[in-house]
Amino acid sequence: MVDGLLARLGVPASAYTNGNHPVHTPIDGSVIASVHLEPAAAVGAKIAQAQQAFEAWRNVPAPRRGELIRLFGEVLREHKADLGEVVSVEAGKITQEGLGEVQEMIDICDFAVGLSRQLYGLTIASERPGHHMRESWHPLGVVGVISAFNFPVAVWAWNTTLALVCGNAVVWKPSEKTPLTALACQALFEKALARFGDAPQHLSQVIIGDRDAGQALVDDPRVPLVSATGSTRMGREVGPRVAARFGRSILELGGNNAMILAPSADLDLAVRAVLFSAVGTAGQRCTTLRRVIVHRSVKDEVVARVKSAYGKVRIGDPREGNLVGPLIDKASFQAMQDALARARDEGGQVFGGERQLAEQYPNAYYVAPAIVEMPGQTEVVRHETFAPILYVLAYDDFEEALRLNNEVPQGLSSCIFTTDLREAERFQSAAGSDCGIANVNIGTSGAEIGGAFGGEKETGGGRESGSDSWKAYMRRQTNTVNYSRELPLAQGIVFD
Ligand code: NAD
Repeated sequence: MVDGLLARLGVPASAYTNGNHPVHTPIDGSVIASVHLEPAAAVGAKIAQAQQAFEAWRNVPAPRRGELIRLFGEVLREHKADLGEVVSVEAGKITQEGLGEVQEMIDICDFAVGLSRQLYGLTIASERPGHHMRESWHPLGVVGVISAFNFPVAVWAWNTTLALVCGNAVVWKPSEKTPLTALACQALFEKALARFGDAPQHLSQVIIGDRDAGQALVDDPRVPLVSATGSTRMGREVGPRVAARFGRSILELGGNNAMILAPSADLDLAVRAVLFSAVGTAGQRCTTLRRVIVHRSVKDEVVARVKSAYGKVRIGDPREGNLVGPLIDKASFQAMQDALARARDEGGQVFGGERQLAEQYPNAYYVAPAIVEMPGQTEVVRHETFAPILYVLAYDDFEEALRLNNEVPQGLSSCIFTTDLREAERFQSAAGSDCGIANVNIGTSGAEIGGAFGGEKETGGGRESGSDSWKAYMRRQTNTVNYSRELPLAQGIVFD
């Protein structure tokens, strides 16, 4: 299913045949390749190589570093269709979303190229005569990237393009569920390196490994920054371990994203936004819409329209024009069924959620997206189940809606559909949504790369991608220079 694609992308067959770890496609559950899982013991050697690469790369002028990323963007444009298809085959994303993910890589390349000429520091007024102060941003070192299965290429690109223009080296541990996309990214990056000519060896490396390999990266003191994307469970393990050695982490963890749907909302827009946000990527985005908090006066109409839209959604092979592809694996299907059973126990009325196409694909897990009307924000609603389940909660007054939005452990994405300016502004104010992302009349998913991406509370607090997220990939240095013939002390201290 992927041999021709991988060959065109430049991945040698030896990297994905005769290995010790089978790779399944969620499309039909079949084994499409087998990769070699590297033991945790191999990680140290890669970090040592990355350290050497870093020591050379940090001296290359930043705009020249940007040139490498410009070339990488060029390579990605040339191979967009093939890489997008590998994403579809390995992660189960529909063609449009697979291509969209590669486009996101291209976009962040463009952003990083511009950034390579804008790593600005401040100049600061000194209180002492004949002195000046400034702030410099220096490369940090080896950046460790750990990524999840559901954004198998974009998350790596968000981190790596910024880390490289900032003068760092990268070691990447992708999800063990999506090693082929990682091998493809590495092969494409090597094409860019060949065009660039004189970059140090081992500037960006990939480790095909499991959790143990990830932990080796997390524990190594030569890795000053670990950017880890995945479940809150993973973040709970990774965060304290990095902190214990005084490393830094960017944690991008689970979400439990809500829409407040106010009585004044444009319902046509809102229902379309619900559909894309709740059902897109089969509910397997960190920003997937999981809760609709809808005003009681429009609830029945909204539920009826969403159910009708759900009934028309085409489910099937993600490469064949369907809107909903498969869940990643059986465990994911089981977790969805468990959550639906629990929702029923907690008083929910479930619509949809059944397995689909089981006869055609006995080893793959397609599901009808589920809508569950809940009597309140019960325990199951407060958890992220990584599948297309949309809980519907009714509200009567706006303060109650805001409280429900915030009353979950996670804090990634949120939105409001309203035409009432006061509600919209209140939602985005200091006393409004407590999430990292708060949108008005746009769904919770599908962020652009220009903004800083990430969330609060159990989502981990990290920010990556646009705005000034680049600062996390550099170390800040405060410089004071005395160009006078005196040695005045700060705070007027006399020390004769
Ligand atoms: P996961 O937590 O099972 O795995 C993510 C990665 O962490 C994998 O590479 C895995 O090997 C590694 N890992 C797991 N435990 C580790 C440990 N103790 N030490 C080091 N590495 C470890 O997540 P998943 O099932 O691949 O992805 C789904 C989850 O990721 C969802 O919760 C989703 O919300 C979240 N996610 C968050 C974002 C975000 O930006 N906030 C983006 C994508 C996915």
